[in-house]
Amino acid sequence: MSDLSDDVDPITWFEEQGLSQEDLRQAARCISEFEIVQYSRGELGDERTKEVDAHLQSCGECTEMYVSLSDEAKKPA
Ligand SMILES: [Zn+2]
Repeated sequence: MSDLSDDVDPITWFEEQGLSQEDLRQAARCISEFEIVQYSRGELGDERTKEVDAHLQSCGECTEMYVSLSDEAKKPA
């Protein structure tokens, strides 16, 4: 019962998306907390948003940070 498809190798995932080695290098770098806040507010540029999207696909740590930060961002200041 371990036939889940969520253990896709990130490199395979990138190739399937038609992304380049350069995209992979970009995505391999973790996103700063500051950028994740901007991302959750939709304040990043289109290009950077795509990079962050791609990174979040392959990085559980940043996804967790994004989830917790976007919860924060929803609270009234
Ligand atoms: Zn990361």
